[in-house]
Amino acid sequence: MIANNGRLKIAIQKSGRLTDDSVSLLRACGLEFEFQKQSLYSPCRNFDLDILALRDDDIPEYVQDAVADLGIVGENIVREKRAQVETITKLGYGHCRLTISVPQRSTIRTVGQLNRKRIATTYPSTLKQFLRSQKLKAEVIELSGSVELAPTLDVADAICDIVSTGTTSRMNGLRPLHVVLPSEAILIANRETMKNPAKKLLVDRLFIRISGGLQARGKRYMMMNAPSSAIPRLKRIIPSLKSPTVVPLAEEGMVALHSVIGEDVFWDVMEKLKRAGASDIVVVPIETIIK
Ligand code: AMP
Repeated sequence: MIANNGRLKIAIQKSGRLTDDSVSLLRACGLEFEFQKQSLYSPCRNFDLDILALRDDDIPEYVQDAVADLGIVGENIVREKRAQVETITKLGYGHCRLTISVPQRSTIRTVGQLNRKRIATTYPSTLKQFLRSQKLKAEVIELSGSVELAPTLDVADAICDIVSTGTTSRMNGLRPLHVVLPSEAILIANRETMKNPAKKLLVDRLFIRISGGLQARGKRYMMMNAPSSAIPRLKRIIPSLKSPTVVPLAEEGMVALHSVIGEDVFWDVMEKLKRAGASDIVVVPIETIIK
């Protein structure tokens, strides 16, 4: 029995694709805890939070029913379970797409051609909702796994399944027809928790830490030296360099510029910065950005 002791309870996937990233996310928030897949319950030593390790399929319902206050789970599962929960934020990992695919040689080329066809899926609720929205009448065949084999076994004309890289689909001779739902890991909350002032305070404190980590993702802190006359040129090269920190150096006419930069653009602009007069460019990782 888990005590209702005023501490926040967050459910994460016990063992699967989202587990490692979810544990890393919580650790990056400065939370100290031991996490073992075998144990249901891991208390945080330095925050009023307990971590529950559960099957991801169960997380939306447990959060809806207040077994946990918060949950980290794929948006695809929350939608399929039609859970009555609040979505706090997307978390930027666990990206995938619930996709309708057909065999390579199928004559089905458009969503409309799925009318009166058989579609195998482990996501019957989301698929039926999609078919209704498209005014299509197709037979939904509910399977509990290995959906990609259904066309080969002539159990279905199409499948509706989770795809991330597309390798499994290709290996099974399938071609994507339509993305029903793009998905990633999300943070969800019980609706009553968000109305309880003491719990809401804890959720807000946790959210500041999580969003700080999300803001910092893909960003680097960059420092460089340059002659002060080069500042306008350097600002033009880096679009994000709206208002860099400029620190005078001991050497007359020289400054140090500090700024945050996206890691995706860094290598592109680095050579231009050098040509514009920057030297001694140092780039370091950022752990968090609190706005
Ligand atoms: P799993 O550990 O396989 O049960 O997957 C857990 C969650 O990871 C899924 O519900 C999706 O939200 C997400 N996910 C990301 N990529 C994939 C993928 N290729 N197949 C299945 N799930 C994926």
